[in-house]
Amino acid sequence: MKFAHIATLVTALSLPFAAFAQDDAGAATAESETPQLIVAISVDQLSADLFAQHRQNFTGGFARLLQGAVFPSGYQAHAATETCPGHSTILTGSHPGRTGVVANRWYDMSVTREDTRVYCSEDPSVQGSSSDDYTVSTNFLLVPTLGDLIQRVDAASQVVSVAGKDRAAVMLGGVEADHFFWPGDAGFTTFEGRERPDALRWINETAIQAAVSSREPLPVPQHCAPYNRAIPIGDGHTVGTHLFSRGPTTSGREILASPEGDLLTLVLAADLVAELELGQRGTTDLLAIGLSATDYIGHAYGTHGVEMCVQLSALDAMLGDFFNRLDARNINYVVMLTSDHGGLDLPERQTEQAAPRAARLLPGFETLDERLAAETGLEAPILRADSPFGDFYVDRSVPEDRRAEVIDRAIAMISAHSQVYHVFGRDEIMAQSVTDAPPEHWTVLDRVRASFHPDRSGDFIVVLQPRVTPIPEPVPGAYVATHGSVWDYDRRVPILFWWPGAEHIEQPLGVMTVDILPTLASLIGLDISDVEIDGRCLDLMPGVAETNCP
Ligand SMILES: [Zn+2]
Repeated sequence: MKFAHIATLVTALSLPFAAFAQDDAGAATAESETPQLIVAISVDQLSADLFAQHRQNFTGGFARLLQGAVFPSGYQAHAATETCPGHSTILTGSHPGRTGVVANRWYDMSVTREDTRVYCSEDPSVQGSSSDDYTVSTNFLLVPTLGDLIQRVDAASQVVSVAGKDRAAVMLGGVEADHFFWPGDAGFTTFEGRERPDALRWINETAIQAAVSSREPLPVPQHCAPYNRAIPIGDGHTVGTHLFSRGPTTSGREILASPEGDLLTLVLAADLVAELELGQRGTTDLLAIGLSATDYIGHAYGTHGVEMCVQLSALDAMLGDFFNRLDARNINYVVMLTSDHGGLDLPERQTEQAAPRAARLLPGFETLDERLAAETGLEAPILRADSPFGDFYVDRSVPEDRRAEVIDRAIAMISAHSQVYHVFGRDEIMAQSVTDAPPEHWTVLDRVRASFHPDRSGDFIVVLQPRVTPIPEPVPGAYVATHGSVWDYDRRVPILFWWPGAEHIEQPLGVMTVDILPTLASLIGLDISDVEIDGRCLDLMPGVAETNCP
């Protein structure tokens, strides 16, 4: 079914570059055999399960990518399946244990400020910075991205990163990128002092206005109808039937948690291709695009309601439109699309749909400090953690000679919680080396090791049982479901490669997002043999004698 409403919206928002499709007959050159533009896309929270569920209904951009090299079982192989670590693997070839981006937020007991929590793309050295109110920075990324490596050999190459979240833009772009754009308080923004292209002004002054003033309820495509049913989540609230049907809004969050969030990001990306002549100047450029709406929608409404089905249909149409624009420019480009992590539907709907053992987190974690204080005589805060799973740290107020005792007591206490799978201590994790086994055969400790960095990770790592949603009380329309676990619903993501003339292959065995960098490097003839990475080149050429890999 054609998604006419979104097509109309795309057209409406595309007016300023309607000429873009017409004025460039013969403008760009596709003379070079080497791709002149790499388009690397992350659709956040697009799990392999979600992609499998909807792939037969795609007719737009996703359908085009499905004609290329398809890896339905890609893995964000590590344990910390969050936005920032996930994005950090996509264009670096490295697990978070090497990129240094171990979580969205972690604790750094060495910072001089009182609040020891740091955000993965903040600069904690800026006066007054906090993990909630910060200056965006690339400082925490310890390894080069594909964009950094491209620019190392050809400084004329342009690297542009556009995303619906600052951390996605930073981790996909890298340290040396020419342009970063992410939504700030007043539309898309960039680093202080950086050049602001006309495209940025247009998106902020015109396109966002168009998006917020003409938002009709979205229609339900036929294949989405079975998902259109209300699921009670308590207090009279439901999810499962929301059609993004609201009037004009000024809430940035509401726009981002709707298909328009991705539309605005893609429109900005397309406009930047035109303005900066990406892929049209005889060098190889990189355009990284972080599409965040799928993640926002997954958190707000879950993954198996009409909301997600409508979002993916809309995104399919928008991606198709975006690729058509690149075609019209006659650019020799290659597309890679994957995700930063998967996701799990809300337990209330899982329970309705034959998924036993799905549950929200039971009480216990909120009283840890109180119980530890009673046992040890120490004063709270004793433990620091951003969530009831993942990295746990002993607070710096705990005397050095009491730390080991506190860790032992905390691990025993947490291990007694009925929904805890295991608690891994730092020594146990560091005794393990990063495995090179196929990702579908990794042990849970292998997963934890791959996102563990000795200077940044916790004193111990808490792993919850499968299908436990670590949100005790759902927040309707904002936070009812999530990801972040070590389990495959959060680790498995599709990885797709396509370029004009690509032959179709589909490899169902597990590959990893850390394989993307060496694979893309091979497609543009970039030598990365001196760069230490965790991934390996994927042979995308089906013929016996053909390979793209060095
Ligand atoms: Zn998320």
